[in-house]
Amino acid sequence: MKRILITGAAGFLGSHLCDRFIKEGFDVIGMDNLITGDLKNIEHLFKLSNFEYYHHDVTKFVSVAGKLDYILHFASPASPIDYLKIPIQTLKVGALGTHNLLGLAKVKKARILIASTSEIYGDPLVHPQTEEYYGNVNTIGPRGVYDEAKRFQESITMAYHRFHGLETRIVRIFNTYGPRMRLNDGRVIPAFMGQALRGEDLTVFGDGSQTRSFCYVDDEIEGIYRLLMSDYVYPVNIGNPHEITIKDFAEEIIKLTGTDQKIIYKDLPQDDPMQRQPDISKAKEILGWEPKIGREEGMKKTFEYFKTLSKAELEKTEHRDFTERIKK
Ligand code: UDP
Repeated sequence: MKRILITGAAGFLGSHLCDRFIKEGFDVIGMDNLITGDLKNIEHLFKLSNFEYYHHDVTKFVSVAGKLDYILHFASPASPIDYLKIPIQTLKVGALGTHNLLGLAKVKKARILIASTSEIYGDPLVHPQTEEYYGNVNTIGPRGVYDEAKRFQESITMAYHRFHGLETRIVRIFNTYGPRMRLNDGRVIPAFMGQALRGEDLTVFGDGSQTRSFCYVDDEIEGIYRLLMSDYVYPVNIGNPHEITIKDFAEEIIKLTGTDQKIIYKDLPQDDPMQRQPDISKAKEILGWEPKIGREEGMKKTFEYFKTLSKAELEKTEHRDFTERIKK
């Protein structure tokens, strides 16, 4: 039986990865410190004999008894509102946390896959973004704590590969959505869906001409699984190349949810990337992967999930106002 450690297990992607590896017959250890994760995402796994949960902060020394075949490092705050609230932890989990997990992988002779991000491209000057593009990141801006931690994470991972011969994989994840996204993380999809469900206007930041490309979680997980099982050590973009402006996206959500609310415009947050679209040629060629679930189908499934949340959970939503907070 193969044994895998998944950090950030109680988070959005981490919990879906736990499900996937359980389904594949692995022994799964889920690790989280619950700063941004939620045990309700994995509580259905607690009754299984091949699932263990460790409450731990990976920025501290990480110890796991017994063998480990694989490590997936998915622990990190991952939304702009989180970077503002917990900037130091964001830097530490990407830097110190990654260092600890690479050390653990070395001792256990485990293969390790690191969750990197399209954020390493910053506000990109190359479109769509290929893995060869080096990025355009503001080191000292509000998003810098995440972007630079992830860039460091890629560097230290390659150093462990080159210097110690460690088996490493790096996935660059583009905007991903689906059930278990945190309603109050400030990201555009939970924000719009929460607003529609509460009967509030949809807040588009800037003039809404900035673009994103949204990948449904099942497709993302399949890409990550294939990359882990592949022999490819360099970064691979995994995302859905179907690009849309945020304004058009807001209109899609209004149609999908049937809300009679309108769009209102707010200031664009600092360093908000103007365009983002993955070039997935590499994933297609090396992993035989491409996304299968279109936005209409994926958004419907996601809205079904948000509809199951209680009124109390919906009301808890905190609204972010980047510009005001950053100005302070
Ligand atoms: N956005 C928006 N309204 C919101 C939340 C976000 O218009 O209520 C915009 C945000 O400015 C960005 C895009 O939606 O241009 C995606 O934001 P998100 O935080 O989801 O992800 P990221 O910027 O990291 O891609």
